[in-house]
Amino acid sequence: MERAMAKPNCPQCSSQENVVPILYGLVDFEDAQIKKDLETRKYVLGGCVVLKENWYCYRCEFSFSDPSIKSLPTKPKCPGCSSKLDVVPILYGYVPLGDEKDVVQEREKNREFILGGRVVQEEEWYCHRCESGFSDASVKSPYNYWR
Ligand SMILES: [Zn+2]
Ligand SMILES: [Zn+2]
Repeated sequence: MERAMAKPNCPQCSSQENVVPILYGLVDFEDAQIKKDLETRKYVLGGCVVLKENWYCYRCEFSFSDPSIKSLPTKPKCPGCSSKLDVVPILYGYVPLGDEKDVVQEREKNREFILGGRVVQEEEWYCHRCESGFSDASVKSPYNYWR
Protein backbone atom coordinates (compact mmCIF):
# COMPACT_ATOMS: atom_id res chain seq x y z
CA MET A 1 0.00 0.00 0.00
CA GLU A 2 1.24 3.45 -0.87
CA ARG A 3 1.50 5.96 1.90
CA ALA A 4 0.95 9.58 1.11
CA MET A 5 3.56 12.01 2.30
CA ALA A 6 3.33 15.76 2.54
CA LYS A 7 5.23 17.25 -0.39
CA PRO A 8 6.07 20.88 -1.05
CA ASN A 9 5.10 22.66 -4.24
CA CYS A 10 7.82 23.45 -6.74
CA PRO A 11 8.88 27.09 -6.32
CA GLN A 12 9.23 27.45 -10.09
CA CYS A 13 6.12 25.83 -11.55
CA SER A 14 3.95 25.34 -8.42
CA SER A 15 3.49 21.71 -9.34
CA GLN A 16 3.29 19.23 -6.52
CA GLU A 17 2.77 16.01 -8.44
CA ASN A 18 6.13 16.31 -10.19
CA VAL A 19 8.02 16.85 -6.95
CA VAL A 20 9.88 13.92 -5.41
CA PRO A 21 12.31 13.59 -2.49
CA ILE A 22 16.02 13.48 -3.22
CA LEU A 23 17.70 10.42 -1.81
CA TYR A 24 21.35 10.76 -0.84
CA GLY A 25 23.84 8.00 -0.32
CA LEU A 26 24.97 4.91 -2.14
CA VAL A 27 22.24 2.51 -3.16
CA ASP A 28 22.25 -0.96 -4.61
CA PHE A 29 21.39 -0.53 -8.26
CA GLU A 30 20.89 -4.26 -8.66
CA ASP A 31 17.99 -4.07 -6.24
CA ALA A 32 14.78 -4.64 -8.21
CA GLN A 33 12.71 -2.50 -5.85
CA ILE A 34 15.07 0.44 -6.21
CA LYS A 35 15.03 0.12 -10.00
CA LYS A 36 11.27 0.08 -9.99
CA ASP A 37 11.03 3.05 -7.65
CA LEU A 38 13.31 5.09 -9.87
CA GLU A 39 11.25 4.20 -12.94
CA THR A 40 8.03 5.15 -11.21
CA ARG A 41 9.62 8.39 -9.97
CA LYS A 42 9.17 7.81 -6.29
CA TYR A 43 12.35 9.77 -5.67
CA VAL A 44 15.56 10.77 -7.41
CA LEU A 45 19.10 9.94 -6.45
CA GLY A 46 21.18 12.88 -5.32
CA GLY A 47 24.53 11.10 -5.21
CA CYS A 48 26.87 10.41 -2.37
CA VAL A 49 27.24 14.00 -1.28
CA VAL A 50 24.55 15.54 0.89
CA LEU A 51 23.41 18.95 -0.27
CA LYS A 52 20.85 21.23 1.27
CA GLU A 53 18.33 20.54 -1.48
CA ASN A 54 15.93 17.80 -0.47
CA TRP A 55 13.30 17.99 -3.24
CA TYR A 56 13.42 17.66 -7.00
CA CYS A 57 10.88 18.75 -9.62
CA TYR A 58 10.74 16.49 -12.67
CA ARG A 59 8.96 19.11 -14.74
CA CYS A 60 11.56 21.87 -14.24
CA GLU A 61 14.47 19.54 -13.56
CA PHE A 62 15.09 21.78 -10.60
CA SER A 63 16.33 20.95 -7.09
CA PHE A 64 15.23 22.96 -4.11
CA SER A 65 14.95 22.82 -0.36
CA ASP A 66 11.81 23.34 1.60
CA PRO A 67 12.05 24.20 5.29
CA SER A 68 8.62 22.69 5.92
CA ILE A 69 10.34 19.32 5.92
CA LYS A 70 11.26 20.26 9.49
CA SER A 71 7.69 19.86 10.58
CA LEU A 72 7.36 16.24 9.71
CA PRO A 73 3.74 15.18 9.97
CA THR A 74 4.59 12.00 11.83
CA LYS A 75 7.55 10.54 13.60
CA PRO A 76 7.75 7.04 14.97
CA LYS A 77 8.18 6.33 18.64
CA CYS A 78 11.54 5.05 19.72
CA PRO A 79 11.22 1.32 20.48
CA GLY A 80 13.68 1.78 23.35
CA CYS A 81 12.26 4.73 25.31
CA SER A 82 8.91 5.45 23.59
CA SER A 83 9.96 9.05 23.05
CA LYS A 84 9.08 10.84 19.85
CA LEU A 85 10.79 14.08 20.79
CA ASP A 86 14.28 12.68 20.52
CA VAL A 87 13.69 10.86 17.24
CA VAL A 88 15.10 12.28 13.99
CA PRO A 89 15.39 10.87 10.46
CA ILE A 90 18.73 9.45 9.38
CA LEU A 91 20.18 11.05 6.27
CA TYR A 92 22.70 9.02 4.29
CA GLY A 93 25.51 10.33 2.10
CA TYR A 94 28.68 12.36 2.32
CA VAL A 95 28.74 15.88 3.65
CA PRO A 96 30.38 18.27 1.20
CA LEU A 97 32.96 20.92 2.05
CA GLY A 98 32.47 24.66 2.15
CA ASP A 99 29.17 26.49 2.50
CA GLU A 100 27.06 23.40 1.93
CA LYS A 101 28.83 21.70 4.80
CA ASP A 102 27.89 24.51 7.16
CA VAL A 103 24.26 24.29 6.07
CA VAL A 104 24.12 20.54 6.55
CA GLN A 105 25.87 20.70 9.93
CA GLU A 106 23.61 23.49 11.11
CA ARG A 107 20.57 21.44 10.20
CA GLU A 108 22.00 18.42 11.95
CA LYS A 109 22.62 20.56 15.04
CA ASN A 110 18.99 21.69 14.90
CA ARG A 111 18.08 18.02 15.01
CA GLU A 112 16.39 18.05 11.65
CA PHE A 113 18.17 14.80 10.90
CA ILE A 114 21.30 12.90 11.77
CA LEU A 115 23.94 11.89 9.26
CA GLY A 116 24.16 8.14 8.83
CA GLY A 117 27.26 7.84 6.69
CA ARG A 118 27.87 7.16 3.06
CA VAL A 119 26.06 3.88 2.52
CA VAL A 120 22.31 3.59 2.91
CA GLN A 121 21.39 1.24 5.74
CA GLU A 122 18.23 -0.32 7.07
CA GLU A 123 17.75 2.16 9.90
CA GLU A 124 15.60 5.15 8.98
CA TRP A 125 15.35 6.85 12.36
CA TYR A 126 17.67 7.73 15.21
CA CYS A 127 16.85 8.31 18.86
CA HIS A 128 19.08 10.93 20.52
CA ARG A 129 18.14 9.72 23.97
CA CYS A 130 19.02 6.06 23.37
CA GLU A 131 21.74 6.92 20.85
CA SER A 132 20.60 4.16 18.55
CA GLY A 133 19.03 3.80 15.14
CA PHE A 134 15.91 1.89 14.24
CA SER A 135 13.41 1.51 11.45
CA ASP A 136 9.66 1.72 11.67
CA ALA A 137 7.56 0.30 8.84
CA SER A 138 4.58 2.47 9.69
CA VAL A 139 6.30 5.85 9.39
CA LYS A 140 8.32 6.77 6.33
CA SER A 141 11.38 8.90 6.66
CA PRO A 142 11.56 11.67 4.04
CA TYR A 143 15.15 10.71 3.35
CA ASN A 144 14.57 7.01 3.00
CA TYR A 145 11.35 7.17 1.14
CA TRP A 146 12.01 4.23 -1.12
CA ARG A 147 11.36 1.55 1.44
ZN1 LIG B 1 8.72 22.64 -11.18
ZN1 LIG C 1 14.97 6.22 22.62
